[in-house]
Amino acid sequence: MNKKYLVAIDAGHGMHTEGKQSVPMSKNLYIDGELVRKKGKIIKENEWNRGVSEYLAAALKRCGIDTMFTADMTGKTDIPLNSRANTANKKGADILISNHYNAIGSCAKWQTRVKGLLVLRTKNCSEKSIKLGKLAVKHLKKDIDYEYSYGLMRDVDMSGFTLAILRQTTMPAILIEYGFMDYEKEAKLMLDKKHQEKCAEAVAKAVCEYFGVTYVAKKSEVKNTEDKPQVISKTEYLRIISDSVNIHSSADFNSSSVVGKVKKGDVFTIAQKIERTGTDMYKLKSGVYITASPKYVEVFYK
Ligand SMILES: [Zn+2]
Repeated sequence: MNKKYLVAIDAGHGMHTEGKQSVPMSKNLYIDGELVRKKGKIIKENEWNRGVSEYLAAALKRCGIDTMFTADMTGKTDIPLNSRANTANKKGADILISNHYNAIGSCAKWQTRVKGLLVLRTKNCSEKSIKLGKLAVKHLKKDIDYEYSYGLMRDVDMSGFTLAILRQTTMPAILIEYGFMDYEKEAKLMLDKKHQEKCAEAVAKAVCEYFGVTYVAKKSEVKNTEDKPQVISKTEYLRIISDSVNIHSSADFNSSSVVGKVKKGDVFTIAQKIERTGTDMYKLKSGVYITASPKYVEVFYK
C-alpha cells in the first residue's frame, strides 16, 4: 500500500491578531447577491486564512492525503507560532502550508507594489521546500487570474527577518500570501468562497504533484458540454432498490452511526450528495445519511 502523506495546514493568525485586516470596503460588498460586508467595514485576514485552509483540507482528503490543522479553526483562540510549529513537528507532518493574505504594514519595500501572489520559504530551507514553493506558484498562477506574481521568495527578501512558522518546522514548509488586503480589488476576494476554493484546489494540485499523487478533481467541477445544460432546479428523489439498507446519523458507514433500516420501494427526498473517499452518500431531507451506491438506491426526478 502506498504511504499516506500528512499535510499540516496552518491558518495564519487568529481572529484577534491586531492589524491583520483589509482596507475598509468603499461600498457594500455583495457576493452572489448576498451582502457579505457593509461599506466602511474591514475583512480580517483570518477570515480568509481559515476559509482557504478548510477548502484545502477537503481537496487533499479527496486526493487521499491526510491533513491536520495547527491553528484553532473556530478562530476563538490565537495559538502562538511556536506551538503551531511544534504540533506539526510532533505529528510528523510531511509538509506544512501556511495560508495568509498580505499587507504592506510597515515594510517600505512593499510600497511600490501592493498586489499579487507571493509564496515564501525560509532562508536556508531544504531543496524540498523550494520544490514545493515553485509548484504552488506554478499552479496558483495557472488557475488564478493574478495581476502580478512575485513568485517564490525567501522570507528575508522583503522584511529582513525569518518567519517562525517556516523556521521552526522540521518538514518542508511554505507560506502563501494569496493577495493583498491593502488592494481593495484583491481584498474583496477574501470573502468569496468560490475564490477560496479555487485557490485551495490550485494548492492541492501542487501538493499532489509534489508527492507524486494523482490529483482528483471535485466531481461537480466536471464541465457540462454546451448542449447539455446542467439541471439544478429539479428536486432529486431516491428509491431503495435493495431489500434492506442502513441509514446513518453521520456521513460514514460505521456500525455506530446506524440509526435504522429502510426497505425496498421506500422513497426519500435528497438534500445533498456527500463526496466521500470510498462510496459516496446522500444526505436526506430528514437529516440522515444513506449510501449513494447504485447497487442499493436509484435517483430520479419528478
Ligand atoms: Zn498573515
